[in-house]
Amino acid sequence: MSNNNNYHFDTLKIRAGYNSSEHNGATQVPIYQTAAFDLYTVEHAQRILNQEEPGYLYSRLQNPTIAALESRVAQLEGATAAVAVASGMAAVSYALLNVGEGGSVIVAAEVYGGTYDAYKRLYPKLGVQVDIVNEINNLSLIRSLIKDDTKAIFIESISNPLNTIADIQALADLAHEHGLPLIVDNTLATPYLLNPFKFGADVVVYSATKALSGQGTVLGGLILESGKFDWSSGRHPQFSEKIYPLGNRSALEVFPSSPFTFRVKINYCRLLGAALSPFSAYLLLLGIETLSERVQKQSDSALKIALFLNSHPKVEWVSHPALESNGQLALYNKYFQKGAGGVFAIKLKGDKATTDKFIEALQLFSYQANIGDARSLIIDPANTTHRELTGEEQLAVHLESGIIRLSIGLEYADDLINDLKQVLDTL
Ligand SMILES: *Cc1c(COP(=O)(O)O)cnc(C)c1O
Repeated sequence: MSNNNNYHFDTLKIRAGYNSSEHNGATQVPIYQTAAFDLYTVEHAQRILNQEEPGYLYSRLQNPTIAALESRVAQLEGATAAVAVASGMAAVSYALLNVGEGGSVIVAAEVYGGTYDAYKRLYPKLGVQVDIVNEINNLSLIRSLIKDDTKAIFIESISNPLNTIADIQALADLAHEHGLPLIVDNTLATPYLLNPFKFGADVVVYSATKALSGQGTVLGGLILESGKFDWSSGRHPQFSEKIYPLGNRSALEVFPSSPFTFRVKINYCRLLGAALSPFSAYLLLLGIETLSERVQKQSDSALKIALFLNSHPKVEWVSHPALESNGQLALYNKYFQKGAGGVFAIKLKGDKATTDKFIEALQLFSYQANIGDARSLIIDPANTTHRELTGEEQLAVHLESGIIRLSIGLEYADDLINDLKQVLDTL
């Protein structure tokens, strides 16, 4: 099947975007490991180049394995289109540059460390200014930051690693009042736990490296659009700008329902070049086949483990949003009815030596800078994934030294609890 909106998520994640009869009956999406494609006739080449017919030219722009991935994830998310890129950082950066060109963006402070670093040290130099917001659900603060040249609001749906939940619906309403799109990094939630488009988001980005692929084998990223945002209001002239490779037509003219992702492809993938490899697309497709089953188990185990840790005398706090102490129960119940995913953070009582010992003594938690793997992982963000932040910035986003991030894998939950318990009891 290639296109059917009547099927449920679990059917789409196995079958959407691929029709075996177009690929010699191959059961699994084949890996088109080729840089370029035969064009045969000059006329055919022109039609593809002018976007007059879909077709394949060169794998930096289009490739059948990657197209199957893009179509599958677009259908899972209810998007009009998706574009796959080489990593989550490419997805975040291309989305923010594509929307922000020549202006500024309002961005959440509580985000992945690389994203925060790019706010400070990359985007302004490339012509996109950033206004960083520490409290993402403070609507009056955000409203006060909206200027004439503001182009978008960017958030993580549930933040890495402290699980701050953004009120997507309220933020989308606020953004739309001002003609702005809401862009959501939905990496921790995955399309299985949360569909930001349902609550009014306009663009969704993923690090597919994480729970979306789920086995720690591959780097990848995705950008998707709802197709509902009005890019022609005057705030985003780049979507109406004539592009030479489009035969002097604009992204909006050629792809009225998917100008955002199309423009990412034609300008950013084509010219900055972070294309996904066909083999990586294949691994992502394989991972997505088990997305619901993995993420549900990880969410369930994470909740069980969070409750255990929260009741342990050596643990100072646990960030899991299902815990009343975190004051997020209303948002958790609204946005995360199936669970909050496998990632959360804790702080132990004691000094740095205690934290270091805990990390090193665990047997079933690998010390790694990744999340969403089938294996349980642990890391100290202030010294690793979020070390780009200055001490002051770390404090502002509550990520000071001593905080530990856990990513719960697919092991038997009680084995993980026993491992944690044994080490905690020796501290
Ligand atoms: C890891 C991560 C990224 C960056 O993704 P890469 O695939 O590592 O480039 C972006 N956003 C979030 C929320 C992440 O966890």
